[in-house]
Amino acid sequence: MEKGKGIDRVKEATEKIIDMFRTGNIPSAVARTVIARDKSEKPSNYWSLGNQLLMMIAGTFDARGFNQWKGVGRQVKKGAKASYILAPMKKTVKVKDENDPAKEDAITIIKGFKGIPVFRYEDTEGNEINRPSYEPAVLPPLIEVAERYGVTVKYGPFTKNFYGYFQPATKTIMLCTHDVRTFFHELAHAAHNTINPLKGGQHAVQEIVAETCAAVLCEIYGYEGYIYHGYEYIKHYSMDKTNSGIIKEIFRVMNDVQEVLRLILGQPSENKNEENVA
Ligand SMILES: [Zn+2]
Repeated sequence: MEKGKGIDRVKEATEKIIDMFRTGNIPSAVARTVIARDKSEKPSNYWSLGNQLLMMIAGTFDARGFNQWKGVGRQVKKGAKASYILAPMKKTVKVKDENDPAKEDAITIIKGFKGIPVFRYEDTEGNEINRPSYEPAVLPPLIEVAERYGVTVKYGPFTKNFYGYFQPATKTIMLCTHDVRTFFHELAHAAHNTINPLKGGQHAVQEIVAETCAAVLCEIYGYEGYIYHGYEYIKHYSMDKTNSGIIKEIFRVMNDVQEVLRLILGQPSENKNEENVA
């Protein structure tokens, strides 16, 4: 992108987004998509939802116990740290039958949970196993920006309401959808983190910055069908749900939005005397 022209394009797209949100005149939305789980016999396919989420937080889509890895010809690398999933500890107890006090029924109760150590695929070596590919046929625009920031992008199957996240500590973006908007959103978090270290969890200001950036990038790259989702997302995090309230919240974080977009698109800052990161 040519320097001057690029800045104009960002400005133009940002103004267009603000105008769409203000008037409610937003292009019709395309359906969101998610990545389907593969049919392979990965042990984690049978885990509880909570354990699958713990695995993803650990930054992998395939975690197994030490012996499970051994069973498929892979060894845990020296020094690798285990993550823990939770297994219920069951106990069988006998209770008297309500209708017939002479009879006893055996029932199983959960008396607690214990942590089971598992290791990430990334922390093992050995025989190549059949790994399903979850990557899109064509990687999204700006994927090279993630690389520039040393951010790893991983795609994996969808697990209930979980579309993606960026983890600052490991510099990893995990995506459970091929929707470009979600990648743009997490990329914006990653870039934002370099100027304003992110707070944990879903912080309203951070979410509004990331999603506004994603909406502008969707406009620039021609994915206008996602802009409505962006509007809904920002509305969700906005204290005031009216259109003018939403615009106010966006303007409150506009400096960060512009800074993040400049970082992502590799343009020089207007405010600071810093080097172009491109
Ligand atoms: Zn977010």
